[in-house]
Amino acid sequence: MDTFEDSLDPEEFGRLLRLGTEVSYRRGNQLMRHGERGDCVMVLRSGQVRVVKPEGDGQSWKLLGVRGAGELLGERAVLWFGERTATVEARGPVLAVKVARGVFQDFLREHPRSREVCTRLLAIRTDRYESRSLSGKPADRVRQALIELAEPRGAWWEVPLTQVEIGMYVQVSKAVVQRTVRKLRGAGLVGKAGRGSLPVPCLPCLRKAQKYGQGVRGCRGDRGCAVRLHGDSEYR
Ligand SMILES: [Zn+2]
Repeated sequence: MDTFEDSLDPEEFGRLLRLGTEVSYRRGNQLMRHGERGDCVMVLRSGQVRVVKPEGDGQSWKLLGVRGAGELLGERAVLWFGERTATVEARGPVLAVKVARGVFQDFLREHPRSREVCTRLLAIRTDRYESRSLSGKPADRVRQALIELAEPRGAWWEVPLTQVEIGMYVQVSKAVVQRTVRKLRGAGLVGKAGRGSLPVPCLPCLRKAQKYGQGVRGCRGDRGCAVRLHGDSEYR
């Protein structure tokens, strides 16, 4: 899955950025709030955010996913519903470009391809969340969660979540996540966990491990990684 930026013609993407204003956030700041009117979209330029949906009494919430540079935020409310369906929170310093609702709607009218990209990515994301694996071996679910949360970045990427949050995504306990992460680290498939983040040095290697199971070793982010360059089939 490509980012919004990668899916658009660079000139068209540049035009969209020029229609907005730059905004910056610090760790913990909310970029958008569940239930508010969707008065803008944002294009993430740098940093990472967590997307959550409050549940029931508002004390608990569901983790819907994470987003990084090049991705679009808040388009659902602008396209269809009017109200924000989730809360978006900065996981570190974030730089974004904010485009007002009406301006973005005009842009999509004038650029039908962008509109198509926008709705397609939204559909893929919704489908992925709804079909995420909640059965099967817990360790497989953790690996799958890391793959989904590290997408669409193919290169070194930090999943901006704690191990508890990663567990929430696929409904497994913290202990299972810790055990799985420890094994993956030993195999060079994830990096050292930071404060609320877990680096995935090479997504193709992690995918290969998910496909072929234990015993697959990762490249630890090597630029010349054969799996990244040539695919996994001939390197089993
Ligand atoms: Zn690799």
